[in-house]
Amino acid sequence: MARKGTLFIVSAPSGAGKSSLIKALLDANPSSDMKVSVSHTTRAIRPGEVDGTHYHYIPVADFKAQIENNEFFEWAEVFGNYYGTSRVMIENTLARGIDIFLDIDWQGARQIKEQITDARGIFILPPSREELERRLNSRGQDSEEIIASRMAEAEAEMSHYNEYDYLIINDDFSTALEDLHAIVRAERLGSAKQAAKNSVIMKDLLVK
Ligand code: GDP
Ligand code: ADP
Ligand code: 5GP
Repeated sequence: MARKGTLFIVSAPSGAGKSSLIKALLDANPSSDMKVSVSHTTRAIRPGEVDGTHYHYIPVADFKAQIENNEFFEWAEVFGNYYGTSRVMIENTLARGIDIFLDIDWQGARQIKEQITDARGIFILPPSREELERRLNSRGQDSEEIIASRMAEAEAEMSHYNEYDYLIINDDFSTALEDLHAIVRAERLGSAKQAAKNSVIMKDLLVK
């Protein structure tokens, strides 16, 4: 399959700000050349979330059937729930030359990198432990018990930062957003991608 778009994997400990950053990036680029992958999950829908926008919420039995049918490009169990990325959606999007952002955990990132070797990994960290906890609380969407378990998992998730190509510290939000913009822009300027996108110019300049 011709994969023309770039696949960006964004991971972070829960509460570091990855959903907010990806959303802000897409809001600032309303053209249709980038989109975010909507995962399937078995976790309960949170207040304010919309089925089909934030996730496709499905029962465990359906998730297992989709694993059996090889419908996931990758899947993982995170915080006791299943999460997975649709294979068809990823392949169609990349084939159409659209960049895609995957908000997935480190286990999923490893599976993607094995299959799409030019995928780019971006890891997001909070400026401190205290700030991470404050953000998890301020989001106001999870119970105390869930927040405690996510804080406990944060350390394990953060230890994988060095498996990614880029690291963003999300202290000041607008600076972190600029960093994310810069990464996407630099990737799009890579010589192979630029040459493919500008094939008419390249042909005129090089083939005589
Ligand atoms: P968040 O931490 O507030 O973003 O909480 P979520 O419930 O949205 O995500 C829970 C975890 O599942 C995070 O570590 C995500 O990166 C991960 N995750 C979400 N979607 C996917 C997916 O499609 N595949 C994989 N492998 N992980 C995912
Ligand atoms: P994640 O998707 O990584 O779990 P979110 O994007 O939901 O994280 O962010 C967690 C909370 O922290 C949200 O309430 C969000 O508004 C807030 N937040 C994100 N980035 C910053 C920042 N740089 N400064 C202050 N608050 C932030
Ligand atoms: P939340 O439940 O807070 O929405 O997400 C918790 C974690 O699951 C986040 O770290 C998120 O990146 C991860 N996650 C969400 N969707 C997927 C997915 O499709 N695959 C994988 N591997 N992780 C996911």
